Amino acid sequence: MILLRDKTVSFSIIVLVLMITALFLVLRFGDMPQIIGRLLPLDLSQPAQVFRDWRIAALAHDKDLCARVLTSPLVRWAPVEDKPVENGCGWNNAIRLEAAGNANLAADPITCPMAAGLTLWLTHEVQPAAKRLLGHTVKSIKTLGSYSCRGINGNAYVNSLKKLGLPVPRSEHALANAIDIAVFELDDGQSVSVLKEWHTSGAKADFLHEAHDGACRFFRVVLGPEANAAHQSHFHLDRGPWHACR
Ligand SMILES: [Zn+2]
Repeated sequence: MILLRDKTVSFSIIVLVLMITALFLVLRFGDMPQIIGRLLPLDLSQPAQVFRDWRIAALAHDKDLCARVLTSPLVRWAPVEDKPVENGCGWNNAIRLEAAGNANLAADPITCPMAAGLTLWLTHEVQPAAKRLLGHTVKSIKTLGSYSCRGINGNAYVNSLKKLGLPVPRSEHALANAIDIAVFELDDGQSVSVLKEWHTSGAKADFLHEAHDGACRFFRVVLGPEANAAHQSHFHLDRGPWHACR
């Protein structure tokens, strides 16, 4: 009888541990249930809000919520048809982004969580840093693209797969869930380039480093020139399952 009770207790503990682990993994890496977004909709005007990462993630599959959250004047966009994912490429609940945080930024298509992350980042990190360090606002941003049906670039693990002739995992770009930021253009005509200014010293370099670090608040993966050779010219920002700030 005691043996049976011990087995039952052990089994219950194992189930509990598995459930807690699964919950942790879902919250850390996964999509959020739509109910979270509806109960706690993201507020683009607030840089700090409880469960911010979950609120951004909850926008992934809810078009109505996306339209309610992405409001002017902080963001300008147009709807885009879904392209069901085939062979690892396609998108769900993406938009055509035209401007965010008072800066022109073209991305077509880009997922709703990415558009929300860009708006938060530009409004609350990039524009204040540009005003403080450079005395100007960012008028527009040059990117190296958002959607691209391709594998991951630059990662040492991926490079070893390539050498062995093995298939490379898809990039978040293949789901329109990433963007590469290359140049910030200011309202006085100056530009700040990741490629040209990251490794220099002075206000432009300070601005780039602040912008990079600030992006880690709103995106799950941020890769800049310190990450690897493939990211010397841009900041890669994505809202995929993994977490990195380099
Ligand atoms: Zn990228």
